[in-house]
Amino acid sequence: NLTQQQIYHWLIQCSQTFAQEQNNLTELDTAIGDGDHGLNMNRGFQKVAEKLPSVEDKDIATLLKTTGMTLLSSVGGASGPLFGTFFIKAAQSAAGKEALSVADLAELIKTGTEGVVSRGKAEPNDKTMCDVWWPVSTALENAASQPLNEAISAAVEAAKQGVESTIPMQARKGRASYLGERSIGHADPGGTSVLLLMKTLQQSL
Ligand code: ADP
Ligand code: MG
Ligand code: MG
Repeated sequence: NLTQQQIYHWLIQCSQTFAQEQNNLTELDTAIGDGDHGLNMNRGFQKVAEKLPSVEDKDIATLLKTTGMTLLSSVGGASGPLFGTFFIKAAQSAAGKEALSVADLAELIKTGTEGVVSRGKAEPNDKTMCDVWWPVSTALENAASQPLNEAISAAVEAAKQGVESTIPMQARKGRASYLGERSIGHADPGGTSVLLLMKTLQQSL
């Protein structure tokens, strides 16, 4: 099972991941957006890393909720409210749980994704982060009977494929949609951040 300590470590490690990946994400967002996605995610997770130690001993739901609130208040653009909502909804799913089974994690990601969808109204193939969250969610549901590390490997694999799948899509939501057909041929930045979140979770096991 995923422990409170592993979740804490994951959320803190995300500050390193997004610092390292800032330029790559910026490049992706420069191709089909306004070039700030790397900065947005890095700023958000540096704030999370500042804030989280004050709740280090609290339960998983509190760690996730604090992360969501921090992203919501420190990240502008489309992605701040959307990732913020993801973690706030995920926190509700984790309420009262001391550790997370694969089934719990699947439920948590499903609930978070539903929050993103209700806020951003994305549909499949709109070329958004949801095109990566959905396959991750499905992979975890299908892996419910597997050991945690195998389930999370499957989720990372699904996220990679999800990011790949966004390349030929034409954006229909967010800034990238202003480009019309010119949004085709590039990976979605927000979806790439979902992959980075999942890879970092895998490294925290
Ligand atoms: P902005 O587009 O406001 O500059 P960011 O660059 O930080 O914000 O984030 C862009 C990402 O947000 C996109 O790559 C996409 O994954 C995600 N996104 C944008 N609009 C939506 C939406 N309606 N639903 C889901 N995700 C969205
Ligand atoms: Mg942007
Ligand atoms: Mg912007």
